[in-house]
Amino acid sequence: MNNRNIKMMNRDLEVIWHPCTQMKDHESLPLIPVKSGKGVWLYDFEGNAYIDAISSWWVNLFGHANPYINNRIKEQVDTLEHVLLAGFTHEPAIELAHRLVALTPKTLQKVFYVDNGSSAIEAALKMSYHYHRNNGKNKSLFLSLTNSYHGETIGALSVGDVALYKETYEPLLIANVQVPVPKDQTPKAAEEALKALEAMLEARAGEIAAFIIEPLIQGAGSMHMYHPDYLVGARRLTQQYDVHLIADEIMTGFGRTGEMFACEHAGISPDFMTLSKGLTGGYLPLSVVMTTDEVYSAFYCDYNEYKAFLHSHSYTGNPLACSAALATLELFERDNVIEANREKSRYIAQKLERFKRLDNVASVRQQGMVAAVELKGYDPKERIGLSVYRYGLEHGVLLRPLGSVVYFMPPYVITEEEINTMMDVAYEGIKKLEIKKWNGKRKAIF
Ligand SMILES: *Cc1c(COP(=O)(O)O)cnc(C)c1O
Repeated sequence: MNNRNIKMMNRDLEVIWHPCTQMKDHESLPLIPVKSGKGVWLYDFEGNAYIDAISSWWVNLFGHANPYINNRIKEQVDTLEHVLLAGFTHEPAIELAHRLVALTPKTLQKVFYVDNGSSAIEAALKMSYHYHRNNGKNKSLFLSLTNSYHGETIGALSVGDVALYKETYEPLLIANVQVPVPKDQTPKAAEEALKALEAMLEARAGEIAAFIIEPLIQGAGSMHMYHPDYLVGARRLTQQYDVHLIADEIMTGFGRTGEMFACEHAGISPDFMTLSKGLTGGYLPLSVVMTTDEVYSAFYCDYNEYKAFLHSHSYTGNPLACSAALATLELFERDNVIEANREKSRYIAQKLERFKRLDNVASVRQQGMVAAVELKGYDPKERIGLSVYRYGLEHGVLLRPLGSVVYFMPPYVITEEEINTMMDVAYEGIKKLEIKKWNGKRKAIF
């Protein structure tokens, strides 16, 4: 790395404790200071360019510094930057809520604003528990899938199942149980997993407030994917056993899976849907919990009955974030994005084929605009993902593998040429690992 980048990096490391990072890694791993972004590209302080192949942690949809979204935020900032949402309201929050109700599955009629993904999960869990309580039932257990991820605040962490994030905090967590996620994308795996779900509900539905799932793709669980049949069955069973279904579409929402929402692949309508990440096109923190009139009604009564949902965050429904979200939804319509993405995901599927022929590739999978390549033959201690990450950076692509799974989740504005660069660099990086392995040198450092 050159001087301006290094200077910036050192100044950062004096004071910033980064997320999801063993800080000591930065003794040898460069920290990339980003000066600006445009479309799928990020530029550092020396003008090096990187394709953002992971949409900056899955949030960006229409590129960095998108002129359309920029303008909407600029207009809004001169009108109203923020106002509390209790006793007061504002136009962007109202318009956005109407648009979300119109877009999401039909039974979702009410929008509760929050300000980040994990907090939306907390609110949904509390709402579900509180709904049952308002109806005279004490259900304080939550059910989720193995290998799931729902965020990292205490409640969200409790219903997750990625040991790396969860294990340390086990004594702090709230009551939760898991059932196995379908093991692959086949209908048969979905059927088997539904049997386990039914057995769990049969035994413990009386205690379980809600079953929370990431529909079709478990993001942080290494882009594990399963068949929509599972969603159909899970909806049927949760209804049958009086357990809420929470669809956590924080990552899968807004077109990632090929439809606007993953639930649409199965035609299901959950009791709660959580949305964040792509909601603002990757601009500002905002999230929502969407729910049904039935849930809403269970809280609606005279104040002194003490049934109100008194959950709040200072930046709930921030107007700047809501206008970014409105601009984002307008772009979906204006550019017919879901349709255009079908073409792009077909192209990605073609490019994915040749990864299958590499000896160190166990499997490839894809769902809409998310594609993953699972590597094999490496010890987790080798930190194979880190080697691919380094290789990507050296060749102008931001890849951030999850363990030994290299994945692509680019902004939708990516061109075929940029897809070529992104996937060719990943291919070469993975292939190089293979060569090192065949040379008998198992140490995967470039
Ligand atoms: C990222 C994510 C969350 C947490 O959202 P944050 O805004 O990072 O707190 C929750 N659920 C899923 C499925 C996610 O991908």
